[in-house]
Amino acid sequence: MNAYQARTGDMQFLLSSVLNAPAKLQALPAFADVDPDLMQQVLDESGKFVSEVIAPLNRDGDEIGAQWQDGVVTMPTGFKQAYQTFWQSGWPALSASAEDGGQGLPCVLEAMLYEMLSAANHGWTMAPGLLHGAYECIKHHASDELKAQYLQKVATGEWLATMCLTEPHAGSDLGLVRTKAVPLPDGQYALSGTKIFISGGEHDLTENIVHLVLARLPDAPPGPKGLSLFLVPKFYPDGSRSRVHCDRIEEKMGLHGSPTCVMRFDEAVSALVGEPGKGLNAMFVMMNAARLHVALQGIGLLDAAWQKADAYAQERRQMRAPGQGKGPGQADLIGEHPAVRRILDTQRAWVDAGRVLAYRTALELDLIKHSPDPTVQAAAQRWCALVTPVMKSVFTHQAFHGGSDCLQVFGGHGYVREWGIEQIVRDARVAMIYEGTNEIQAIDLLVRKVLVDGGQGMNGLLDGLLAELPQHTKSSTPAQARVQTLRAVTQQIVKAAPQDAALAYRVADDYLRSVALVLMEWAWLRIEAGVDASDPQSAQRWSAPAKALRDWVLPEFQMRSYIIVSQCTAAA
Ligand SMILES: Cc1cc2nc3c(=O)[nH]c(=O)nc-3n(C[C@H](O)[C@H](O)[C@H](O)COP(=O)(O)OP(=O)(O)OC[C@H]3O[C@@H](n4cnc5c(N)ncnc54)[C@H](O)[C@@H]3O)c2cc1C
Repeated sequence: MNAYQARTGDMQFLLSSVLNAPAKLQALPAFADVDPDLMQQVLDESGKFVSEVIAPLNRDGDEIGAQWQDGVVTMPTGFKQAYQTFWQSGWPALSASAEDGGQGLPCVLEAMLYEMLSAANHGWTMAPGLLHGAYECIKHHASDELKAQYLQKVATGEWLATMCLTEPHAGSDLGLVRTKAVPLPDGQYALSGTKIFISGGEHDLTENIVHLVLARLPDAPPGPKGLSLFLVPKFYPDGSRSRVHCDRIEEKMGLHGSPTCVMRFDEAVSALVGEPGKGLNAMFVMMNAARLHVALQGIGLLDAAWQKADAYAQERRQMRAPGQGKGPGQADLIGEHPAVRRILDTQRAWVDAGRVLAYRTALELDLIKHSPDPTVQAAAQRWCALVTPVMKSVFTHQAFHGGSDCLQVFGGHGYVREWGIEQIVRDARVAMIYEGTNEIQAIDLLVRKVLVDGGQGMNGLLDGLLAELPQHTKSSTPAQARVQTLRAVTQQIVKAAPQDAALAYRVADDYLRSVALVLMEWAWLRIEAGVDASDPQSAQRWSAPAKALRDWVLPEFQMRSYIIVSQCTAAA
């Protein structure tokens, strides 16, 4: 079984030649010292750490899994040691501010690190996956006293953090949360209730765990506006243990290396984070960061599945491939069969486009944080608001379905455990569900973000994409035609929606996928413009997936537009 290898050459090409990231970042005062050499060095070191330390633990993480005994959770062999090395080397603090103990590097480098980590070992990566969001949440919403106690420990990853939202009866609808917070005389709160599916609710990776919990004050109104955010650690600063217990961990389809915990809060003394009734606002900081991370999980896992399938297709021989001209009795590599080639090149097209879009989104986060120009900041906010749900949805969908196609390349050998591809398919499935299911992402995009301003924000995003197309593709091209169709389709939904309250909800997924296809085409046009055509090896590397995108991926756009238009016509 071949373990995942971080191939940082491709990532570096996308970052520098396609996204022009070093120049964009160096133009920001905060990153004036972040030169291309430094970025390359961080990327190379990330790749080395992931390939050498994290990837080899993936199989044990699946087979041994996290173990629960009397409220104590023991992580799989090697996980704790790897985590200690991880935080002591400063990896979790990559993009945290220097004043909080971080390295002050761009978000985009952290995004690339997390893509590699998820590809190598999704289960292990769940543990630090929420750290950065928790750091931002505490930094922007907690009191100075709380910050003094927790900010640096969370920024550096010395302590891990959880996000406690879900309850047995409250999943997508957090307005149903019942966990209650009763004020105590000293200004703190007693938290009581049960949270389920809490990733990393209990483990032995760090000395302390910081829980961020959504709960309801006694006089709070029903629904989401009655939710407040609270912080309760496993151990308080004086060393005493809080009344937070892990009652069980779930048996799951995959992701065995990550304990999914049922957490009981038994009048646990906690502190309010932010204002009463503004819990969801504070939590959204964490959830938006987490959504990009989940998209990166999808991209990484699909890359890991592709690596395995591609290697196998270069070894396994079966039957003669059309046009290969071997003699009777001889068999060709399965990678030479058009059906297998189609699977492999198509997944490559998804991974490479996904990287461009995810790294671009992370760069936009850097602009939001550090650009002094309000117009640039507003455009970056728009990009993140519109593109993040698209990425979360389509790349987690593709990780599972494309990963399953990669499993198909192995035939029966993919269905048995030997090659490790079935673990990727099992592990990837959950990413379509958590951090807001993919159905919720589609509704978030169309109903909450596009229809709300009559499609103006989406039009602005599309204008920006067109302006960034390479010169020769700017007019009368299929890409431009697709952008025009998307604009027209958006307006049709805007017009028809008032006649049929359910319309937007029915076509939300078709709409999200249409946007994804336009974004992917843009990403690939940018990749092709960045390729050095005089280097035959480089040209060959990128040409097959570019062709697969046009042959096998983009035709879906027509089907999606057809569905949306039919639904709008029926509603009118
Ligand atoms: C392994 C794992 C780890 C997790 N980690 C965490 C964690 O760390 N913290 C945490 O708080 N939670 C966590 N979760 C919970 C996760 O976020 C929820 O499972 C998810 O939000 C969906 O909620 P639900 O399971 O209750 O499904 P439901 O909300 O009951 O949804 C069931 C189905 O109905 C659909 N649906 C629901 N409402 C709508 C709607 N309005 N429109 C269209 N379709 C709708 C959903 O898309 C889904 O297909 C985790 C879950 C898993 C499995």
